[in-house]
Amino acid sequence: MRGKLWIVGFGPGSEKHITERAKEALQESDCVIGYKTYMELVAGLIEGKEVISTGMSEEVSRAQAAVKYAEAGRTVAVISSGDAGVYGMAGLIYEVLAEKGWREEDGVEVEIIPGISAINSCASLLGAPVMHDACTISLSDHLTPWDLIVRRIEAAGAADFVIALYNPRSGKRTRQIVEAQRILLKHRSPDTPVGLVKSAYRDRQQVVMTTLANMLDYEIGMLTTVIIGNSATFLYENKMITPRGYQRKYTLTSEKQPLRPHERLKPEHEPWALHKGKEGAPPLYEIGMKALQMLDGKKTEFLQESFPQRKVESIFEVAVSPGVANKKFTAKQLSALSAIAGETGSVEYTPHHQIILRVPTEKPQQITNQLEEAGFLIQPVGDVLSVKACDFCDGEKKDAIPYAEQLHEKLAGIQLPKELHIGVNGCGMACYQAVNDDIGIVFRKGKFDLFLGAKPVGRTAHAGQPVAEGIEPEEIVPLIERIVAEYKEKAHPNERLFKFFKRVKNIQGFAYRDITPTIQIEPAPCGD
Ligand code: SAH
Repeated sequence: MRGKLWIVGFGPGSEKHITERAKEALQESDCVIGYKTYMELVAGLIEGKEVISTGMSEEVSRAQAAVKYAEAGRTVAVISSGDAGVYGMAGLIYEVLAEKGWREEDGVEVEIIPGISAINSCASLLGAPVMHDACTISLSDHLTPWDLIVRRIEAAGAADFVIALYNPRSGKRTRQIVEAQRILLKHRSPDTPVGLVKSAYRDRQQVVMTTLANMLDYEIGMLTTVIIGNSATFLYENKMITPRGYQRKYTLTSEKQPLRPHERLKPEHEPWALHKGKEGAPPLYEIGMKALQMLDGKKTEFLQESFPQRKVESIFEVAVSPGVANKKFTAKQLSALSAIAGETGSVEYTPHHQIILRVPTEKPQQITNQLEEAGFLIQPVGDVLSVKACDFCDGEKKDAIPYAEQLHEKLAGIQLPKELHIGVNGCGMACYQAVNDDIGIVFRKGKFDLFLGAKPVGRTAHAGQPVAEGIEPEEIVPLIERIVAEYKEKAHPNERLFKFFKRVKNIQGFAYRDITPTIQIEPAPCGD
């Protein structure tokens, strides 16, 4: 009879974090082999089994014993904490098997059962520190030369990996963690968040949130995993969080905003990527390839020169226009805009008749001042309210201008569930297409007409519904304020006004009528 070897990772230590498959394996095996302390952790699951427990340093004899018993036809479970393939018993078992000329088709049956490794269990207790490219480094130099470990810390530090340090310190090995900190401080700020987790999901669990500079002031031992953040990791509510990307955008209303969760990364947001960059961009691909070659040649200094500590600048974005009604840029304004955008910024004209300026900078206030000096009206970008007005026939039909300006003053820039555009047109021609905006306001014969819920794009695009005519001028601004307040309070995230209107059927007493056009595709004339 062929014997069987289950190599079982039982996770951090609590029974709830042991997988179903690992439990089955323990149940089905007739002999369990492992380190003494681990046996205590899974005691409840191995009652009545033959148990072979040995000391910490006797891993090789444990692996040999396991193979021997399996070869004798028994079903043996070898247990490792966390995942058996991460500094665990899995590799060692295969080494012993390979030495004996084991072959899969007629040798003992082997199954490796994955478990939750310390990097994952500890990360979950700290918040979300891993999230992005990360690596594990064991500081134990029992089996790995220290100079190789140093090179790995150097490389991971320089390449901005989130790092989980396993086996950081023991009774005798006390220098390694001090050295690791020294090396990492060459590449990362002393304020970099660091999490220390001892005995995750076990009785004596301890979680400490600290920084790269202060981490050595706390207890670090055999049962601790040290997680070091990358240059973008931040602390929030005592949670260590690594954002999904690096480039942060911010606009007038929010100091700094991470990429919104649904916002996909675009090439321009990831200048560090190896895709072919813009002309003149650093040849990152070449640097990467060269670095790999150099690693073979043991030259870690190269990495430090090629990847100097580089802070990714945030992008400040803002919408600029000559005024609420004014549509004309002066030559002076255009040259100011061009100077502010410079080589690294960009100026984009959007379908909403907005000019969006994007500049990488850490000093948004300076940009704001320059734009205001040039006489621009500036507005935040994103899911905010914007007011677009016609030019009131170059100011000839000026009666409605004060109302457009009031709306702009009171509402422009406020954060909403989704972008919202208010269009104000100064006469019944409505040539700036207010009726195609989320909220359309048209001035006619001294009073206002109101349109709600246009769907400006898509095959089922439609104008807003005319919901009221002849609104008295002094009523229009407070009415719009109430509509916006209701939308802000009750709409789902990302729900545009037309969808909201369709769902709730009534906004401030204005009833929804279904005007969505149904589309029928005509048979193609030529038959294909
Ligand atoms: N196979 C294990 C790692 C074994 S090496 C795994 O995948 O998790 C031993 C190191 O793992 C310890 O020094 C510690 O750094 C880490 N470790 C294992 N279990 C842990 C736990 N419950 N809490 C914190 N760290 C743990």
